[in-house]
Amino acid sequence: MTQLQSGFSTRAVHGGEARPNPYRAVTTPIVQTSTYTFESTADVRAFKEAQQSGAPQRRGEYGRYGNPTQWAAEDKIAALEGAEEALLFSSGMNAVTTALLALLSPGDHLIVTQDLYRKTRQFCNTLLQRMGIATSYVPVGDIAALEAALRPQTRLLFTELPTNPYLRVVDLERIADLVHARGARLFVDSTFATPYNLRPLEHGADLVVHSATKYLGGHNDLLAGVLVGPSSLIGPLREVQGMLGGVVDPGCAYLLLRGLKTLGLRMERHNENGLRVARFLEGQPAVAHVWYPGLPSHPDHAIATRLLRGFGGVVSFEVRGGMEGAAALIDALRVPLIGPSLGGVESLVEQPALMSHYELDPVERAAIGVTDGLVRYALGIEDADDLIADLEQALAKVLVGS
Ligand SMILES: *Cc1c(COP(=O)(O)O)cnc(C)c1O
Repeated sequence: MTQLQSGFSTRAVHGGEARPNPYRAVTTPIVQTSTYTFESTADVRAFKEAQQSGAPQRRGEYGRYGNPTQWAAEDKIAALEGAEEALLFSSGMNAVTTALLALLSPGDHLIVTQDLYRKTRQFCNTLLQRMGIATSYVPVGDIAALEAALRPQTRLLFTELPTNPYLRVVDLERIADLVHARGARLFVDSTFATPYNLRPLEHGADLVVHSATKYLGGHNDLLAGVLVGPSSLIGPLREVQGMLGGVVDPGCAYLLLRGLKTLGLRMERHNENGLRVARFLEGQPAVAHVWYPGLPSHPDHAIATRLLRGFGGVVSFEVRGGMEGAAALIDALRVPLIGPSLGGVESLVEQPALMSHYELDPVERAAIGVTDGLVRYALGIEDADDLIADLEQALAKVLVGS
């Protein structure tokens, strides 16, 4: 294709698409096959020899080693992140766990930031620990604690950006320098930021992961994950995926390709809705506190303003009246659906104490910082005026009830 690789949405629409596509179709086809065939044994030999020489190959052999629809989605995401290569997985967790398993060995040490996706924490505390890989947790933004946690065995620092649920934003360049000085790598879960708001590789990250289930897919209709980084890292991870088998199927890769084309448009709206709703909530008597990096009251507002193009569509807030107060508010809302996840066009709302962190006892929850009255509102792309009017009527009910 000619020089169209400029702005974000131009890359979102055209990046990774073969031109011409088969049959000169506008869209990339779903190549629904589990296996691929060869013309002759000489053809098989040529394929294998090319593979062994390490030359990049975009030719199918067997579905577990990739499919053309997947490769188009990977190339589109790589173009958006400004990366050499991307690798798709069947879910975000599959991408995270495959990378951690591949990059860490028994005796190695991992540091993660404390505000963390719950299943990632569980993986570190159970399977990694059983394999002799130790994990230290450091508070986001506490550089002294990070320096103290670094050991000669530290191989990796893993952080979300922004974190879940408090939307903390680490000083990426600063921690990248610290970690690199010790010969370790920086691995960033950028699900909440998306490449529209931040490209971590440009700020010192070595490897990026997204749950593509969220903003990248964007329509609450698929599960996928993606690792993004230099080919020197992604190539070996592709080999590991071939063994572990967490591949994405062609139909899912197509839905993701389709969703990605509107990522820029959707993120503009998510960013706008996030800021407007966060500002509205901050003035409400029934709301004790709002966490949104776009608000000057957020502890990382200055870093977030420097790093991020927009602050995203997730707003977390503490409702007065604890468990019951938050539940009353959620039940009174009419626009969002009650459920986990985020990043889709439909707004979703949840109370982490009842949803993602239910199985923890209140003391453990408090230690992680998840309070009973906390609400995580994942704003969709509905009109901000409607979202705010809905919150207004729901908050009025909560105040009457208390
Ligand atoms: C959802 C999510 C994951 C896990 O992704 P799945 O696609 O659900 O497996 C990991 N990290 C963050 C920050 C998430 O929001």
